[in-house]
Amino acid sequence: MIAIYDTLTRGIKVIPVDGSSVNIYCCGPTVYRDAHVGNLRTFLLADLIVRVLRLEGRQVNFIQNITDVGHMSEDFQDEDKLLQQAKLEKQDPFEIARKYEEKFHQDLAKINILPADSYPRASETIDLMLQSIAQLVASGHAYATEVGTVYFDARSVESYGAISGNKLDSLKPGHRYEYSDEGDKRFHADWALWKSAGNRTEMVWDSPWGKGFPGWHIECTAMSLELLDKRIDLHVGGIDLRFPHHENERAQSNSIIGQEAVKMWVHGEHLLFEGRKMSKSAGNVVLVKDLVERGLDPLALRLALLENRYRSQMDLTWAGLEAANLTLKRWRTCMATWGENQNQLEDSEIAGAIAKDIDTPRVLLRMRAIEKDISVPVELKRSVFLYADSVLGLDLDHPAAVRELTSEQIELLQLRAQARNNKNWSESDRLRDLLSNSGIAVNDGPDGQSWS
Ligand SMILES: [Zn+2]
Repeated sequence: MIAIYDTLTRGIKVIPVDGSSVNIYCCGPTVYRDAHVGNLRTFLLADLIVRVLRLEGRQVNFIQNITDVGHMSEDFQDEDKLLQQAKLEKQDPFEIARKYEEKFHQDLAKINILPADSYPRASETIDLMLQSIAQLVASGHAYATEVGTVYFDARSVESYGAISGNKLDSLKPGHRYEYSDEGDKRFHADWALWKSAGNRTEMVWDSPWGKGFPGWHIECTAMSLELLDKRIDLHVGGIDLRFPHHENERAQSNSIIGQEAVKMWVHGEHLLFEGRKMSKSAGNVVLVKDLVERGLDPLALRLALLENRYRSQMDLTWAGLEAANLTLKRWRTCMATWGENQNQLEDSEIAGAIAKDIDTPRVLLRMRAIEKDISVPVELKRSVFLYADSVLGLDLDHPAAVRELTSEQIELLQLRAQARNNKNWSESDRLRDLLSNSGIAVNDGPDGQSWS
C-alpha cells in the first residue's frame, strides 16, 4: 500500500486500488524551450510514482501531454508561447514544437525517466477539446461571446478553489490572469476555453464558434478524461500549476462528468538554484546539457533531487551536484566490487520509507548506513542496493564509463600543460574551453592539471 500527499484533501492518502491499473496523468511540457532542472524535478516525481507502483506489482497507465498550442505567455499578454518563440527563432511554430519536444524526450532519457504510455499533443487533439467545450456550453457551465470566444463560468462550480484555497470571493478583479480581459467576460475569474482567432493566422482551427484556438486548461481536461477513460487516479504536476491551471481543470472535468474526476492531486515543490528562483531574465536557468558540460553525469542530477523529498522546496547547488556525482561514482564502484548477483532484496526500512509518501532522503540515508555497515555481507548489500535502485533509477549496477581519449584531446591536454608552465593564462583558458566542449573537464591542483 502506497500513500502519498493529496493536495485537495491536504493529507496523506493511500493510492486507490480499485480498477485493474492505476491511471496517472502528468501535465507535460510546453515545448517552446528546453526543460530546465526545475521542470525535470516535476517529471521525476511522476517517474518515481510509476516506479513505486510497478515495484508493488501494480499496472500503471501513464499519460503525459505535450502542450504545443494555447499556452499564453504572462509577460506578453495574449501571445502564445510557441508563436512568440517561433518569431524569435524565425521558424515555423510547429517546427519549434517538434524540436523542443524531441529535446524533452532526450533530457528525460538522460535522467532515466521511463517513457509514458503516450504523449498526446494538444494540436492533435483539438477535436476532443471542441467536444469537451461543447458539453460545457450545453450544460450551462460555459458561454460563447459575440466574437467567438468561449468562457468557462467560474461561478457555476460551487467548490471552485478547493485545491488552491483561492475561493472566488477572494479573487479580486485585477488579479493577473493568463488571458487579458477582453471586456466580454461575465465575471473576472472566468477563463477562455476557446479563443477567437482575431488577427492570429497561425495555429488556428475551425470550431462551431468560428476560427480560433484552445485555452491551455481545457487541453488537460479533454486528454485526461478521454485517454484515461474518465478515471484519473493520480494527477501530477508542479506546485505552480495548482492555481489557476489545476483549479480550472478540476472545475471543467468535474462539470463534464458530474463527479470528482481526479482522485488525488499530487504536486511537486519548487526548485531554487543557488538560492534563487530560476528564470530566463535572471540568467540562471540550468539545463541537463550544462551539467554534461561540467563533466557531471546527468544521473547526478537525479540523485541530487532525490536527496530532498518531492514536496519540500529545494535549493539545488553546483556543490550539491558535484557531491552527488561523487556518491554516484562511489556507489557504482562499490556495486562492481560487491559481486555480480542480480537478486533484489527488499529492505523493510527502505520499503517503508517509499510507501510513506516516497521519502527518498530516508531511503538514501538507509543506503549510506548499509554501505558502511561492516557486519552486512557484501552480496546482501548489493541485493538491497539493486532493490532500492529499481525506484531510484540511478544505474548503480553500471561501472563508471571509461572512454579512451582521442589523439586530439591528448594533444590539447599537453598544449594546455605547456601553456600553464609558460604562465600563458589566456591560452590555457582557451584550451580548457576547447577541452570542455569535447567533454573533458580540467581541474588545476597543486600537482598540475588533472582531467575527468
Ligand atoms: Zn495540465
